[in-house]
Amino acid sequence: MDNSLVSGSLAMIQPAWHHVSGSNDHRAGELYQTSLMSALIAGNYEGQMTYGDIRKHGDFGLGTFNDLDGEMVGFDGMFYQVRSDGSARPVTDDQKTPFAVVTFFQPERELNLVQPMTKSDLLAMIEKATDANLFSAVRVDGAFDEVRMRTVQRQTRPFPPLTEAAKHQAEKVFTNVEGTLAGFRSPIYAQGIGVAGFHLHFLRQDKQSGGHALDYRLRAGKVQICTVHNLRVELPTSAEFLKTNLEDPALNQKIKSAEG
Ligand code: ZN
Repeated sequence: MDNSLVSGSLAMIQPAWHHVSGSNDHRAGELYQTSLMSALIAGNYEGQMTYGDIRKHGDFGLGTFNDLDGEMVGFDGMFYQVRSDGSARPVTDDQKTPFAVVTFFQPERELNLVQPMTKSDLLAMIEKATDANLFSAVRVDGAFDEVRMRTVQRQTRPFPPLTEAAKHQAEKVFTNVEGTLAGFRSPIYAQGIGVAGFHLHFLRQDKQSGGHALDYRLRAGKVQICTVHNLRVELPTSAEFLKTNLEDPALNQKIKSAEG
């Protein structure tokens, strides 16, 4: 048998993940979140938590801003705000958020990819390498043939529900772009607390733009994953949150449509 004929497909089936022995940061392994995706879906766009507070709990993650003023993407201790005009800027400590998820990212395994992969191929491969019943932080640095992303638009009161606000989201497509996907794979039981499955945000390498990643084709890059065993959710105590009815039979569908 000619090995060269099968090596490509074998590599796909059995990707060569390398174990990374990190610095053993004692803060790693906890997912820290403010508020709930279900509250965001219901239109709770004003939180009391500042990004100065959020930073104490992680150097990596995603989220949004008060009034739903764009997408947050962060890694290596730097958080960025991508606004609906497509521009990105560093987040300041006094900015507040109604929803953010962070962790101290410590890669356990990494994989260098040299063959192009669609979003579904890439995510299927990461699914196989992570545990369905745990949370995983996922980082992909690479060259992309294409990245399609969206950015939510700043809302004013009375706040519409997220599915309504998302209808006016700005979409953008970058071709031939280098950058970083950062986010999480969350268990199915976490739907409503967060987003079940993958939730990834993108930042261009020049850090000038990005957004919530809708679709992408990776040309080559490095994937890093980090398992998270602890979930800590800081619930809001605002009157608005306390009186919000979070019973929503269509929640699953709404999260899929707003965050898919
Ligand atoms: Zn998002």
